[in-house]
Amino acid sequence: MVKQALVIGGGPAGLMAAEQLLAAGLGVTIAEAKPSFGRKFLMAGKFGLNLTKDEPSDDFGAQFYEAAPLLVPMLKQFGPQQMMAWADALGAEVFTGSSGRVFPKAMKASPLLRAWLGRLAQGGAEFKTRWRWVGWQEDGYGFDTPEGRVVQPADVCILALGGASWARLGSDGAWTSILSQKGVSLAPFLPANAALNIDWSAHMQPHFGEALKSIAFLTPKGAVRGEAIISRAGLEGSGIYSLSRDVRSGAKIKIDLLPDWSLEKVAQALSQPRGKASLSNFLRKRLKLGPPKRALLHELCAQLPQSPKALAAVIKALPLRHQGLAPMDGAISTAGGVRWQALSPDLMLNACPGVFCAGEMLDWEAPTGGYLITASMATGAWAGAQAAQYAQRH
Ligand SMILES: Cc1cc2nc3c(=O)[nH]c(=O)nc-3n(C[C@H](O)[C@H](O)[C@H](O)COP(=O)(O)OP(=O)(O)OC[C@H]3O[C@@H](n4cnc5c(N)ncnc54)[C@H](O)[C@@H]3O)c2cc1C
Repeated sequence: MVKQALVIGGGPAGLMAAEQLLAAGLGVTIAEAKPSFGRKFLMAGKFGLNLTKDEPSDDFGAQFYEAAPLLVPMLKQFGPQQMMAWADALGAEVFTGSSGRVFPKAMKASPLLRAWLGRLAQGGAEFKTRWRWVGWQEDGYGFDTPEGRVVQPADVCILALGGASWARLGSDGAWTSILSQKGVSLAPFLPANAALNIDWSAHMQPHFGEALKSIAFLTPKGAVRGEAIISRAGLEGSGIYSLSRDVRSGAKIKIDLLPDWSLEKVAQALSQPRGKASLSNFLRKRLKLGPPKRALLHELCAQLPQSPKALAAVIKALPLRHQGLAPMDGAISTAGGVRWQALSPDLMLNACPGVFCAGEMLDWEAPTGGYLITASMATGAWAGAQAAQYAQRH
């Protein structure tokens, strides 16, 4: 008899797991709480859909902090090269930007998702939407559905329920109460890749929406090049998101407004006679500091020093005063989730034989840059393949 697999959660991790299970000859049902699949994936598409980063696997794996040794074997099986081949096979031509980031040429997710769901349907997957998993029942997995409570039996199950940000897209983290009742060890969710809250003075208002380009963030790990957008609530953008882990640990961060200039070069430029020029004009002329950088300098340092050397030091290391990370629900991703010690190397829950986990619900984090979707799909592929073998064995 054909073994039956149930995949709960229709994001990239769940759909990738379903693909593996179908390829291994299992019957597959994919159940999703929302009225449609891949809502966060589609939202990622609105921001350009950075699928992966084309870099050597060791560099890629190193972005996952303490989870790197656990994820690397999975990323070796499904890493940047496999991601590009996967997109290509679904008819989405990709290109690699100068930073190594890989995007579909269409810069959106909907054609890719449509083709993916089509291929899964052709492979025989059964799709269930508006099916919210509410826990285990005696005969299987219980769902709240528009038709009332449904119990779905399965030989193996993949949980791919996502992290805990952008709850309106489905990843609300509500599944944690079901798993903790089973004794599964969970790390608390924390915002990763989140914006920074800053109580701006009224002077910053004209600069909302402006970009701070070619800056570097000075963190305990060293200088990180990036950029940021000034928003009403503070600062956002990929450079800021990459600081979340440091901010969570209470690290003090500074901004180098001129990372391409040495301290001496800045001090020398500031030593030129200023004449009648205002300080702002002088900074614009001598250092080519644009309006958002000048505004930030005045905002974050109320009393700018007079001496060229001391002023240069502030420009090269401006203390980033902030009110902490923006609320988790607005974060691009979350840290925390199912702890690795709750899982076998196959990604099966030790407490629940036959139940595997994948995607952002696992306790790992990474910066933006394509690492998130790649790792979600890599763990999905791994869990799917291991679940298929488990089903055949039992
Ligand atoms: C604005 C934004 C932009 C992003 N851009 C990028 C990017 O460019 N590159 C990148 O790599 N990453 C990006 N990400 C992150 C990336 O989208 C996620 O890491 C990825 O979607 C995680 O995949 P997942 O399958 O693990 O979880 P999700 O995509 O969150 O899917 C989980 C699914 O499980 C369903 N679910 C949850 N609970 C239940 C339940 N009880 N019953 C049934 N179903 C349930 C949810 O509805 C959801 O559909 C972005 C995220 C955001 C918010």
